[in-house]
Amino acid sequence: MEYYRLRIVTTEEGVDIIPAMLTDFDITGIEIEDPREVEALRGGKKTYHWDYVDDKVFDIDDYAVIVYTDDPGKAADIAGAFRDNSMVKELIVEHADDSEWKDRWKEFFKTSKITDRIVIKPGWEEYDPGPDELVIDIDPGTAFGTGTHETTSGCIELLERYMKKGDSVLDVGSGSGILSIASVLLGAGRVTAVDIDPEAVRVTAENAERNGMADSIETICGDLTKDIDDKYDIVVANLMADLVIMLSEDAAKHLNDGGIFISSGILIEKEEEVISALERNAFRVIEAVEKGEWCAIAAEL
Ligand code: SAH
Repeated sequence: MEYYRLRIVTTEEGVDIIPAMLTDFDITGIEIEDPREVEALRGGKKTYHWDYVDDKVFDIDDYAVIVYTDDPGKAADIAGAFRDNSMVKELIVEHADDSEWKDRWKEFFKTSKITDRIVIKPGWEEYDPGPDELVIDIDPGTAFGTGTHETTSGCIELLERYMKKGDSVLDVGSGSGILSIASVLLGAGRVTAVDIDPEAVRVTAENAERNGMADSIETICGDLTKDIDDKYDIVVANLMADLVIMLSEDAAKHLNDGGIFISSGILIEKEEEVISALERNAFRVIEAVEKGEWCAIAAEL
């Protein structure tokens, strides 16, 4: 796809105002570079973002709004409208064609066997499953979750171990929907998938449909369990340590007696901290699976 990238270098005030002005141009793809955010990160005020922070984030010195559009007319209109605005220090327009690299990641996402039973297959590959194999068919789009990350495979391993037929499951941070689909394959009766990112919610619903599970997987856009009223037999959450710690109190409220909380996205160095939070909320840790630098924990209420 061909697209235009307009980088509008601006002021502290501009970074707050320009995105609102862009709504007149019906733009959906924007990115903000805000040195204040970097400061917050450096100061550790947003600690729960730390685990996945890309070092490039720390190179941000300018305030900038970056706009993406595939419409040359719209790119020209936006450039014209902002070029002489007093809040704009610099405006750079780039034209790019991402058709080559856009699909490059697909070369690295291959059919893979996650456990003895679970196989994950990208939508565009064919696979002939063995008699005991369960296949998850995934097109992750831009959402997280091809199953190859240790944090995801750790969850799948624990789901396989603790799922009982007919269990209800709450998947917090569903990403591509991979853990919801794995749950249904492993015998879950119904699954609620929640994600804070609307794109992940869309991709989860699409992948549920692709696997013939649209009736068993309900999708909700929300922050952790804030929009959830129900109780479940299993709560699974592949987030990151600080979010898991925040969730451990609510997870207990959303579990039936004897329910299991499977949490992941936890760096091994934060394992003890997570275990303490689980124990404070009446959980008994039954198993921790370590893979690479990550661990996934199963705890019982
Ligand atoms: N479950 C998938 C994806 C894990 S990535 C897998 O195991 O592969 C973590 C997901 O959590 C992302 O999709 C992200 O959007 C979502 N997330 C992050 N913070 C969240 C929050 N506060 N509430 C709900 N979802 C959240």
